Amino acid sequence: MAFPDNFTPDLVVDSPGRINLIGEHTDYNLGYVLPTAIEKKITFKFKKNNSNKQCNFYSLGFNKGFAVQLDKIAPSAVEWENYILGVLNEILKRTDKLRGFDCTIESKLPMGSGLSSSAALECGLAFGLNRLFGLSLSNMDIVKLSQRAEHTYVGTQCGIMDQFASVMSRQGHVILLDCQSLEHQQIPIQIAPYKMIMLNTKVSHNLASSEYNTRKRECEAGVQIIKERYPEVNSLRDVDTAMIQEYEGNMDPTIYSRCSFIVTENQRVLEAKEAIQENDLKRFGELLYQAHEGISKDYEVSCPESDFLVDFTKKYEMVLGARQTGGGFGGCTLNIVHKDQADQFIKEASAAYKEAFNIDLEAFEVKPSAGTTIR
Ligand code: ADP
Ligand code: MG
Repeated sequence: MAFPDNFTPDLVVDSPGRINLIGEHTDYNLGYVLPTAIEKKITFKFKKNNSNKQCNFYSLGFNKGFAVQLDKIAPSAVEWENYILGVLNEILKRTDKLRGFDCTIESKLPMGSGLSSSAALECGLAFGLNRLFGLSLSNMDIVKLSQRAEHTYVGTQCGIMDQFASVMSRQGHVILLDCQSLEHQQIPIQIAPYKMIMLNTKVSHNLASSEYNTRKRECEAGVQIIKERYPEVNSLRDVDTAMIQEYEGNMDPTIYSRCSFIVTENQRVLEAKEAIQENDLKRFGELLYQAHEGISKDYEVSCPESDFLVDFTKKYEMVLGARQTGGGFGGCTLNIVHKDQADQFIKEASAAYKEAFNIDLEAFEVKPSAGTTIR
C-alpha cells in the first residue's frame, strides 16, 4: 500500500517498550512485578482522513501497510496486523466515535526481544486514537483493552504488566505492580554509579508462544491441587513458601518446579523493591541471579544463549547481577554493571558470545523512563 509522502500528522505519540527488573511470569499468576518503561519506543503519527471508516496503516520498519474498514474488522492472516485490528475491535466495543484515519508506525524497539514491542504497538495506537477522537478512555481502559486485544486477536494470553508499564511508567521510577488488585506504587530508583545494560541474545526461539501457554496451564494445574487442601487459594499469588514446600515430592515434579518458582519469584520482587528503596544494589543484584537460576532450572524458559551470558557476568566483580528478561527462550538479559567497567564488559561479552554462538551481540543501556506520551 502506498502511503502519502507529505504526511503531516495531527498527532504524534511515543509509546515505549519496557523492561521488568524482576518478577517473571508472575503477572498471569496474579503476583508482583517491577517494570519500567525504557527510552526505546515506537512512534505513531496519526492524521484524520476524510473517510468515515477507512483506516490506513503503514509500518516503516516493515515497509508494509494495510487498509481496513471500521465496519469490517476481523482477524488477519498477517500476524502484526492483528495487534492493530485487535485494538480497533476493542475500541469499537466501547465507543462509536472512531472515524477514518491514517497512521504511520516507526519503531526503535527490537521485536521479539522481551522489550514488549507488542504492548508498545497496542497501547500507542489506543492512546493516540483516544486523543485524536476524544474517546474519553482512561489510561487504565487503554491498558486493559490493549491486553484484551492481544488475547483475542493475537492469541497470546498475556498478563497485564507489559501494557501497564508501557502506559503508566514515570521517569526515574520502577512500578511495583500488584497484578491481582492492580494497585501500584511508583518506586524511585537510583542506579548510578551502576548502569542497566541489556544484552540482546538476538535469538527468539519460537517455542515462546506455545510454551507460554503451557506454563500458564501448568500453574493452573498446581493451583487446583493446592486448592484441595487450601480452598482459599485462587492463584499462586495466594501460596506462601511454607505451603508450597509441603508439595515437594507430593506433586508432579514439573508442576511443583513451576509453582515453586512462581512463589519464590513473588517473594523476590518484594525483596527487590525493598533493596531498591534502601539503595542496596548489591542485594538487588543477588536477587537477579537467583531469579535467573529459577527461570532456567525450575521454570525452564531460558536457553543456552541466555544462560551463557548470565554465567559470563559472574567473573566480573563489578557486575552485581544479571538475568534473562521477558517471556523467555532468548531476548535480552539485564545486567547491573558498574559504569567504569561497562564498556569493557560489553566488549568482552560480545567477543565471548561471538565465539560461542557466532552471533553479534547487541548491547544498550536502559534508563527508567516515562510511559506513553503525546509529543
Ligand atoms: P515483544 O513484545 O517481546 O517485542 P512479541 O512477539 O510479543 O515480542 O511482539 C512482537 C510482534 O509485534 C512482532 O512480531 C510484530 O507482529 C509486532 N510488532 C512490533 N513492532 C512492530 C512494528 N514496528 N511494526 C509492525 N509490527 C510490529
Ligand atoms: Mg510481547
